[in-house]
Amino acid sequence: MRIDIISVVPELLHSPLQHSIMKRAQEKGLLEVHIHDLRHFGLGKHRQVDDYPFGGGAGMVLRPEPLAQCLDTLMAQHTYDEIIYLTPDGQRFDQKMANRLSLKDNLLLIAGHYKGIDERIRQHYVTLEISIGDYVLSGGELPALVVVDAVGRLIPGVLNDETSALLDSFQDGLLAPPVYTRPANFRGWEVPQVLRSGNFKAIEAWRYEQALQRTRQRRPDLLLDEEAE
Ligand code: SAM
Repeated sequence: MRIDIISVVPELLHSPLQHSIMKRAQEKGLLEVHIHDLRHFGLGKHRQVDDYPFGGGAGMVLRPEPLAQCLDTLMAQHTYDEIIYLTPDGQRFDQKMANRLSLKDNLLLIAGHYKGIDERIRQHYVTLEISIGDYVLSGGELPALVVVDAVGRLIPGVLNDETSALLDSFQDGLLAPPVYTRPANFRGWEVPQVLRSGNFKAIEAWRYEQALQRTRQRRPDLLLDEEAE
């Protein structure tokens, strides 16, 4: 999968992609992430990318011309499955959307800044708008990284153990069960006996029961969602 990200603060994007699973995904050739500095398409000698909002009010808005030029350049080279704008008023990002996006080949993400991007870019270029939650961040770089990570780890071959992602929270409409590692006894706090029993059927049943119980207690809405489907 190829993911392009357009940003006015590209420096924010580099480090999280250079470590751990995202680094391995790129080294294995399963994920390519290309970061584009919007200022390269800025106007005039100051490479201006923003301007005052029509109608007045506080804050700046990302102008349409640099974004359109950057998008046109990229779209002339690649066919994108989705052109995504990260925005608080977009569709709420969740595991289902991550699963769906992980099946795509080419994604283009636009990270906004200031008050956001000129509405005409949203109307004429963007095919999907994603919010990572009901709060406002300073820029779309962290949301873009959230999407890249959540989607990237689902690409077949990225995780060493394929089944690991399937057992994570939300994959089957349930939260994940508790996990333990060595030592079996830490300060007198024992790991549940069943997990040390070697009885895989019993372990699976225990995990399912724990996942169900945890979901009932913490996120009963997930169980209602399942019933509704
Ligand atoms: N004026 C916008 C509003 O009230 O909806 C908020 C703009 S925010 C300060 C600047 C940029 O951060 C946005 O253009 C968007 O790209 C990104 N952003 C902030 N919060 C976000 C969220 N919850 N989900 C996705 N993107 C977000």
